[in-house]
Amino acid sequence: MSSLLITHGYVVTVDPARRVISDGYVAVDGDSITAVGPMSELPDQSADEVIDARGMLVMPGLVNGHNHHWGSLFKNTGEGMLLEEWIDRVTLPLARQLSPDDLRVAAYLAAIEQIRTGTTCSLNHAVNINDGESMAAMIEPVLDVGVRQLVTKELRDTPDPPFSDAYPARPHVRDRAEELALAEEIVDRWDGAGGIVHMGLALETGANWMLHNSSSEELILEGVELAERRGLKITNHCGAGTPWLSHREFERATGGGDVDFLVRIGALAPSWVLIHVMHVRDREIDAIGRAGIGVITAPVSNAYNAGGVAPLKQFFAAGVPVGLGSDGTYVNCSPDMVEQMKFAVLIQNLTHMDPRLMTAESAIEMATIGSARAMGLDHLIGSLEPGKRADIVLFDLDRAHSTVTNRPVAALVFSAHGNDADTVIVNGQVLLRGGELAGFDREREVLDEATARAHAAISRAELADQVFVDWRHGHE
Ligand SMILES: [Zn+2]
Repeated sequence: MSSLLITHGYVVTVDPARRVISDGYVAVDGDSITAVGPMSELPDQSADEVIDARGMLVMPGLVNGHNHHWGSLFKNTGEGMLLEEWIDRVTLPLARQLSPDDLRVAAYLAAIEQIRTGTTCSLNHAVNINDGESMAAMIEPVLDVGVRQLVTKELRDTPDPPFSDAYPARPHVRDRAEELALAEEIVDRWDGAGGIVHMGLALETGANWMLHNSSSEELILEGVELAERRGLKITNHCGAGTPWLSHREFERATGGGDVDFLVRIGALAPSWVLIHVMHVRDREIDAIGRAGIGVITAPVSNAYNAGGVAPLKQFFAAGVPVGLGSDGTYVNCSPDMVEQMKFAVLIQNLTHMDPRLMTAESAIEMATIGSARAMGLDHLIGSLEPGKRADIVLFDLDRAHSTVTNRPVAALVFSAHGNDADTVIVNGQVLLRGGELAGFDREREVLDEATARAHAAISRAELADQVFVDWRHGHE
C-alpha cells in the first residue's frame, strides 16, 4: 500500500460543509483518503510520493453520469438531426457494426479521454446488444487503464403483442429469462473488479425506445426486481423524445409521459438513474422526488439535437439529486466535463433569464457529489473526505486562459478546460502526472486503431457519404 500527499493546493472538498481550503493538503493511503486540511495543520508525516499542488485546484474527480463509451469512435457523425432521426440513421446502424475489438478500442479511448479531462468515474450506458465476450471487451480496458466506471448491462426483449407498430418488433436474440440470467452472470463476474468497476443495468422505457419495441412491461418489472434484489442502479433515457415526434406518439399510446408510464405499471423505484428528463409534467417530477430517484442532465447533448432543456429548477425544489453527464461523444461531441459544467449553468440561466439560478458552485456539485448520489456511489466518491476512495483531480489554473487569482471555482467552470487536468488519481493510483499518462504507454496506438476502426465501421454501415463531408452547405 503506497501513500501519497498532495500539498499546497486550493482544495475544494465538496464535503457536506462545502469546505474550501486555500492552502491545503490531502493525504492518501492505499486506495483511500485519510485526511484533508490546511497546510498549517499538516501532521509531520512521510509519504511515498508528495505532489506539490501550488497554483492548482484540488477537487474530487469529476463524475460523468451519462456516456456511451463506444460513441467515442463516432464523434461528429450526427449533426443536424433530431433525436429520432439520429437514432434511426446513425446510432442503430453503427451499433449493429460493432465487433468486440471495436468495443475494446473504444473502451480504451473513452478511458483515456476520461483521464485527460479530469473525470475519474463515468457511467457507461449500454445501448448496443452485448454478451459475455463483448462485456469483457468493454471492461478489461477499464481495469488495464485504471479509471473508475459504472458499467451497465442492457436488458432487452420484444413485447408480445408489440407495444407499437411504428417500428418492426423483431424478436430479441435471447428470451426474457435468458436475458435476466445473463445480466446477473455478468454482474457476478465483474462487480467490484479492481475496486474500480461497479456494475449496473440499462433498461429503456422512454418514448422513443418503447416505440422501437425495446422492452416489455414484464421485462421492466423483472429488471427492477433484479436491481432491487442485487442493489444495482438502472440507467434509462427518460423524457427525451422530441415533443412533437416520439414524445407525442408515446403520449397518444399511453395517455401520459415517460414517468407516468413507470408509475402506472408499478415500476418507479429508487434503482433508476433517469437520463435527460426534459419533457416531464409537474406530477412526474413530484413522483421522481417521492421515489428518491436521481436524474442526470446532459445539456450539451440535448442542445446538439435541439431536444430541449431539463427543468433543473423544479428538480432542485423537489430535492431530486441531479448529476451531470456528457452523453456519448457521438452526440455531444466532447467528454469534457468542464465544458458540460459551463454549458449547464449558461443554458439554465438563459432559459429562466435569471443569472443567479445556477452558479459555478452548483455546477461543481452536479459534476461531483450530484452524479455520485444519482449513481449510488456517493458513499465512495464525489467529495474529498477521509474514508472515501482517493479519486482526485488537480486542475492547473495557473495558465494564461484561467489564471487563478480572482475566484478559483469560477475560473474552473467558466475559464478552464478539462485538459487543464494536471494530475488525476483514481483509487489511490496516479493515472496522470504533470499532464502525462502514468502507467499506460499505448495512447498513440489506441488513437490510431480507434480512427481506423471507426472509419471502417462507418463505411460498413453505409454512412460514409453522410459522414465524410468536408463542408456542409446548410441542412436540407
Ligand atoms: Zn444517451
